[in-house]
Amino acid sequence: MSAPALRIAVQKSGRLAEKSLELIEAAGFRIMKGANDLLYRVENAPIDILRVRDDDIPTFVGDGVADFGIVGRNVLAEAVEDGARAPVEAMALGFGRCTLKIAAPIGFKYANAHSLAGLRIATTYPRSLKRFLEAHGVQAEILTMRGAVEVAPRLHLAQAICDLVSTGATLEANGLEALDTVLESEAVLIRAPKGVQAQFAALGESMIARFKGVAASRGAKYIMMNAPRARLAEITAILPGADAPTITPLAGREDVLAVHAVCQESVFWETLERLKEAGASAILVLPIEKMM
Ligand code: ATP
Ligand code: ZN
Repeated sequence: MSAPALRIAVQKSGRLAEKSLELIEAAGFRIMKGANDLLYRVENAPIDILRVRDDDIPTFVGDGVADFGIVGRNVLAEAVEDGARAPVEAMALGFGRCTLKIAAPIGFKYANAHSLAGLRIATTYPRSLKRFLEAHGVQAEILTMRGAVEVAPRLHLAQAICDLVSTGATLEANGLEALDTVLESEAVLIRAPKGVQAQFAALGESMIARFKGVAASRGAKYIMMNAPRARLAEITAILPGADAPTITPLAGREDVLAVHAVCQESVFWETLERLKEAGASAILVLPIEKMM
């Protein structure tokens, strides 16, 4: 018997596996990769990590076997029929981005979803595709496949497909082009519909807060500079995604102030050049390790 613990289901191997563990570690939980391949323990908190097929994660979390799960929104959407056992999306995690798209052989005349009426569309995402077609009031035949959907048009199994796309290279290699978007996906944290085990509710909340901190600090920078008092408004307006910068006086300088700010968006060289043109000097851009 294992000790009671908060349980998180993650993909065992595949596109989300590494990044899911990295996120948990970045949140300060030390993962012990022990002999048991299916279950990793966390050393400094009562957390167990269940390593499973991504397709099983919504079921695990929906049934409450796991309190949380990390899975692609596409997998969640496809698994969920709604109802009492539908896991709840707690937060988007900012990695594993991809799009579920409608695609067809290059040259296909597409105006909108109605261009698909009466066609046969191959997919491994029949529920998501059905919802898309229904939302547009379009009647089309759905051919459910287990994989290799992109070859269906060439084999004359279907005239169009509905598949995950990240770079578009696979589509291109098969003479297909993307026509419409069914779902924008990324990895999401999902929570059991009945909530987490009562004794671990606070730990669950703190884990989510830490994940939010990790997600927010990615790409965020701390920027410091000296700015002429007269051009302060102009300079703070240039800072990308910064609210309420800290302004402090400099010893012995009436005309110049120190400006410190957290920028939520990337700080590019071009931004620094604009700051300099506006009179800023001694500009420093620092990485942020943690944020809460
Ligand atoms: P499992 O063995 O766990 O069932 P899988 O083969 O179904 O794995 P992966 O290919 O590892 O799944 O993809 C996992 C998730 O990664 C996808 O569900 C999707 O959310 C995301 N993803 C990001 N980019 C892509 C892409 N280009 N193609 C497919 N999935 C992608
Ligand atoms: Zn899978």
